Amino acid sequence: MFFARGRGAYLTDVDGRSYLDLVGSWGANLLGNAPTGIVRAVRRAATEGLSFGAPSPREHELAERIRAAAPELERLRFVSSGTEAVMSAVRVARGFTHRSKVVKFAGGYHGHSDGLLARAGSGLASLAIPDSAGVPPAIVGETLVGRYNDPDGLATLFERHGRSIAAVLVEPVAGNMGVVPPRPGFLPSISKLAHRHGAVVIADEVITGFRLRRGTIHRELGLSADLVTLGKVVGGGMPVGVYGGRRELMETVAPLGPVYQAGTLSGHPLAMAAGSAMLDRLVPGVYRTLEKAGALLEDRLVGAAEEERVGPFTVQRVGSMLGLFFARGPVFDDRGARRSDRARYGRFFHALLDRGVYLPPAPLETAFASAALRSADLAGIGRVFRAGFRAAARGGR
Ligand SMILES: *Cc1c(COP(=O)(O)O)cnc(C)c1O
Repeated sequence: MFFARGRGAYLTDVDGRSYLDLVGSWGANLLGNAPTGIVRAVRRAATEGLSFGAPSPREHELAERIRAAAPELERLRFVSSGTEAVMSAVRVARGFTHRSKVVKFAGGYHGHSDGLLARAGSGLASLAIPDSAGVPPAIVGETLVGRYNDPDGLATLFERHGRSIAAVLVEPVAGNMGVVPPRPGFLPSISKLAHRHGAVVIADEVITGFRLRRGTIHRELGLSADLVTLGKVVGGGMPVGVYGGRRELMETVAPLGPVYQAGTLSGHPLAMAAGSAMLDRLVPGVYRTLEKAGALLEDRLVGAAEEERVGPFTVQRVGSMLGLFFARGPVFDDRGARRSDRARYGRFFHALLDRGVYLPPAPLETAFASAALRSADLAGIGRVFRAGFRAAARGGR
């Protein structure tokens, strides 16, 4: 699909058809498409120079806003994507600990850097195998893959590899295998095990940061992190990634320390302006609107599924993040997520698209509500969902 324009809760494709947007640029567009205030801020910034290749006060303006809401980022750096943010945080963790292995969880996505394009091979506590062509096995050999919501499996990984583990990387609410919230005890067990073994905890909040609340969510969920990554929402629709955390770790980054990281367009003035304008608009009312829109979508989905007797169907929602599974819930990990009927999701997606509703094209991506969704936009959505479920059951559109 090719989109030509986006405005508020809607996208318009190149053929002039309009869609209710439940993807929101994969979560970046928290306030909907092209919010007036953000567009104005970017326009104004553009007249003052597109890129300096040097710091500008706009970086401090956004950094101060981020730190006011997430003080655990004692020091932070701007890059241009979530991928870069996580890649750099991992480098800091390795540089700081002088260790090489990184633990991630199956079904977790942390950008497309080589070492993190890995999921578990067969069996628990196994070494990772590449998830993509072009990734040498030796590189993902430094990645260990645990199971989300499985503290015992993580303990086993630490028993076997504890002395070589530099970091554990985790999404506080998993948002790349549908939506999988952490079970009680899982996140605290990560900090406890990692810190006991001298490893760094990296909270990947590229999706959750400033989406679930103004700031980060990991501490509220019991995770004590040393480094945090942000992206998506904090860029206001422009390319921004952030990594930061404890001063002691961040001061290993050059020029203060030996860990190299740079970017020609990092801290880009237009992106900084968009991020600051976004954060200035994230008042409590926005989160109430997001919660209401998320709850309404969940209610209409579940209601429509029951009315159409679609069989196993589960919605897992955290605020404005919705995971749709054509499977019996609850889903706790990637194994559960992958039991979802992908073909059925595909038919549901296309049926909705034909009716002017744009869901994530892939079955295990998160659907996002934006604060631009008004009750009028969602008034007929139950009927659309019912038609979609009927089409999905028939095997056609
Ligand atoms: C999207 C995402 C990334 C990667 O961000 P990009 O800007 O796409 O490079 C990293 N981590 C998580 C949790 C994400 O959802």
